[in-house]
Amino acid sequence: MPFFFMGIKIFSAESGSKMQRVPKALALLSGGLDSLLAARVVRDLGVDVTGVTFDSGFFHLGAPGTRTDAAGSVHPWVARAENVAAQAGVPLEIIDVSRDYLSMLLHPPHGYGAHVNPCIDCKILFLRRARQRLLELGGDFIITGEVAGQRPMSQNRSALDVIERFSGCQDILLRPLSALCLAPIRAEREGLIARERLLGFSGRTRKPQMALAEKLGIVEYAQPAGGCVLAEAHFAGRFADFRKHWEADKKIGHEDITRLRLGRHFRLASGAKVIVGRSESENDWLEQARGEWGMAFPQTCKGPVGLLSHPEDAAGREFLWRAVARYSDAPRGEVVALEWHTTDGLQIVSASALSEETLLAVRI
Ligand code: SF4
Repeated sequence: MPFFFMGIKIFSAESGSKMQRVPKALALLSGGLDSLLAARVVRDLGVDVTGVTFDSGFFHLGAPGTRTDAAGSVHPWVARAENVAAQAGVPLEIIDVSRDYLSMLLHPPHGYGAHVNPCIDCKILFLRRARQRLLELGGDFIITGEVAGQRPMSQNRSALDVIERFSGCQDILLRPLSALCLAPIRAEREGLIARERLLGFSGRTRKPQMALAEKLGIVEYAQPAGGCVLAEAHFAGRFADFRKHWEADKKIGHEDITRLRLGRHFRLASGAKVIVGRSESENDWLEQARGEWGMAFPQTCKGPVGLLSHPEDAAGREFLWRAVARYSDAPRGEVVALEWHTTDGLQIVSASALSEETLLAVRI
């Protein structure tokens, strides 16, 4: 006769059946409490759980798929995921999905949330990649920390169904925190995991999660929201402008996103865009993400890096140079000498500061 050990069905040798293998699962770790609890609950039932976190390209600046920045510091979102994995007692893998993410972001089939956060398609994409990884590992199911009815867009009941269907994860997606409110998945039906040891949380209250965390001795965890620039209002405005001027046949790249995240942005009548850095670190990033844009910065005083996109014309160049002069340390009214870099080479030019009204009139 089979018996349960820590929630897993074991067939004893005496019964004539083979000892059942330990089930394997992948847990999506977002860095928040819910995914931590979900991974921990299933791991504590004796399942061999591996944590995965996805690099969408929107959680940090710099090259996607990296654990640290150029100075060797661990990206905060990676540190959060590592902390969650450690508390859940599981190893962690980081999977770079930034290339597919960028193509999805311009036209997400299920639309955007409050800003430009394509939460449903984001989760679908993450789950598709998780499913692929699960197959490679020969695993049995995928774990997420979703709670039915908790979030307005991505975690209501119909959204959970859509995410499951479009990711191809029907019957292999276990939401341990809400499992008792949802139909059992194959691993539960086959007795690989004891359904009665899973939970039935639903709705917006977070009290059950807090109580469970306390019971498991989990004291350090991130607050549920935050971290994704796509869910921020100021980024949404810039992204809407970017989409409006985007050439349909052009591919969106990581440099485009880096530029969108940094500096002061201005859209000129020609359709060209000007970006002016606000700090030394932004100046460094803008220089790295310059691509084929023209670049100007002061030659003899401190000041920002400014970039000018195509179509580049005389009015655009003048605006950029004068905007850089405005935000430089040069005394007001003084003519500033600037380096002007293009794909054709370097020129020294000079410009006086633009007025605040002129800048504000085209600021995005
Ligand atoms: S907030 Fe950002 S990372 Fe989270 S599901 Fe939405 S789009 Fe994806």
